[in-house]
Amino acid sequence: MRQPLVVGNWKMNGSTATIQTLLEQMKQGIGSVERTKVGVCPPFVYLSQVSIALGATNIAWGAQDVSQQAEGAFTGEVAVNMLKDFNCAYVIVGHSERRSLYHESDELVAQKFAAVQAGMMIPILCVGELLEERESGDTENVVKRQLDAVLNLAGIAAFEKAVIAYEPVWAIGTGKTASPQQAQDVHAFIRQQLAKYDNAIADKVQILYGGSVKGSNATELFSMADIDGGLIGGASLKADDFLTICRAG
Ligand code: PEP
Repeated sequence: MRQPLVVGNWKMNGSTATIQTLLEQMKQGIGSVERTKVGVCPPFVYLSQVSIALGATNIAWGAQDVSQQAEGAFTGEVAVNMLKDFNCAYVIVGHSERRSLYHESDELVAQKFAAVQAGMMIPILCVGELLEERESGDTENVVKRQLDAVLNLAGIAAFEKAVIAYEPVWAIGTGKTASPQQAQDVHAFIRQQLAKYDNAIADKVQILYGGSVKGSNATELFSMADIDGGLIGGASLKADDFLTICRAG
């Protein structure tokens, strides 16, 4: 039985003041979330604030990206050990905004995934197709290619301590959600791909759905057999909306 997981990706939003309010509201409301493990991924510069505010709670935190390099002359980058310093549990790798806006390749994403694991944190590997790829019937090819890059570098055993997020790019921040069946089909496909190497790992890995999840559609999405929770962008910035989604897990 996989535990539901809901992680908020705050992207490049917030300030010290708005984040303090959001964290207070989340701490007040988290008692109403029964089964679901909850996490938030703030911008790097707020990790200290978030770790202090959430330290004594059961809400986890993580980062939205990381460098594949361990240290050195990489201006603007943040290393795995720096995230460990702030007790991050999770690190998102390969978010579609990183892939498309910052040209991160499948191979680079795989290197980041491996670096996070070597640092004993849990990578949340984002995969998903563009609208034109879905329309041309390439969804499974794209997702397989993105998964294979990680499997080739890190191996199947790496998925014992990893989370996958299926995020169709056309559904991110657009208000268009994949239907529960569309999402379920891809989640089942991802699990099948892993099962080719190891059934037990495929069965155990949490696969989150991301793309315009809201309080109003979360229950239906999360009730599908292979959907184990969500990676939530916009709706994670309001405590009430986010907690409603967390309760749907
Ligand atoms: C995301 O950025 O991972 C995401 C799913 O965003 P949104 O929920 O806003 O579509």
